[in-house]
Amino acid sequence: MSIAEILKDEAIRTYLHRLIRDEGLDLLEKFPEEGEYSDEELAEKTGINLNSVRHTLYTLYEKRLAEYRRLKNTETGWLTYLWTLRLDRVPGAVMEDMKMMLEKLEARENFEEENDFYLCKTCGTFTFNEVMELDFACPRCTQPVEHFDNEALLSALKRRISAIRECLGYE
Ligand SMILES: [Zn+2]
Repeated sequence: MSIAEILKDEAIRTYLHRLIRDEGLDLLEKFPEEGEYSDEELAEKTGINLNSVRHTLYTLYEKRLAEYRRLKNTETGWLTYLWTLRLDRVPGAVMEDMKMMLEKLEARENFEEENDFYLCKTCGTFTFNEVMELDFACPRCTQPVEHFDNEALLSALKRRISAIRECLGYE
């Protein structure tokens, strides 16, 4: 699949945009389809600033979405890194990302379900245990707190969790 075709997928594009922003996507769109290139060659071919090229390549490399091969010039001893993209791995990376997000959301869901919340209009919400010791006053500014109904928050969390689980094929 060509880079242009991969980038047409909305979920993949969104994922990559969050990772490498506009300048990174710009590099991918201009990236030569064939061959392997050094960062300097890529900057020259795409007209994108060398530091930005390097930053994008490194960010992709961390997610295993780009690879390099190291060449040593036998005369000068200089090293050259030749880069190739591994955008075929993006769908797997998107899945990993969703799994991590799901874990966080489920932990939050548990916290919201297991606690009763109290709101200070200035400082935000606190749990029952935090305000009880102070006879239902804010632990930070000592104003009286009010019970906070987290039903709407919890149901929004549940909707997001179920949408992600569906995406991952869990239900
Ligand atoms: Zn307060």
